[in-house]
Amino acid sequence: MFLIDMNGKVTHERIKLNIVMAIEKKPMKKIEGIIVHQTDGSTAKSALESYKSGKSGAHFLIDKDGTIYQTASLIKQTWHVGKLKPRCLVEMRCTPTELQQLKKFSPSATHRREIVKSVPFRFPSNQDSIGIEIVGQALPANEPDPDKRTYEKLTEEQSNSLKWLIQELRFSLKVPLSEIFRHPTVSYKNKTEAATASW
Ligand SMILES: [Zn+2]
Repeated sequence: MFLIDMNGKVTHERIKLNIVMAIEKKPMKKIEGIIVHQTDGSTAKSALESYKSGKSGAHFLIDKDGTIYQTASLIKQTWHVGKLKPRCLVEMRCTPTELQQLKKFSPSATHRREIVKSVPFRFPSNQDSIGIEIVGQALPANEPDPDKRTYEKLTEEQSNSLKWLIQELRFSLKVPLSEIFRHPTVSYKNKTEAATASW
């Protein structure tokens, strides 16, 4: 059983606290979902190093050996999602007006229309989701077109840790299974990111 203290930190023997304050952004008022990522790096150390720049980051990081780090408070937003895809299109329930607007491919305009909706009419975003990063590279690393790279498979230890972590988070944060996504489902990312992750 997983305990979350008033500062948004988890107390459990399976979780190592390694908060990088640089990635903690605005207060998170509500948690609607969980987004699962891969780091496109080969070690937890390289991910933690890049977090220090204060740009993107997530709340948890799962190393190759299954070690789980908490890297940001659960009461703080982190930047891990990016521009939202139109949920109505993915779920095939767009209105004629929405379909008309989507004819012109513009991730920025789509994001602006999505973000004013509420979950489940849009996907969870930076402002209301927990991010879980799994250490793993998109290969071959020297391929210039990022869409032609393929993310590594999760190790067995990573799979076990991810399942356990999501189970605990779902239970303590009351997140429904229907609001847990791989990153490329909700944003414009390489479609193999976290493809081998399951929960
Ligand atoms: Zn991602």
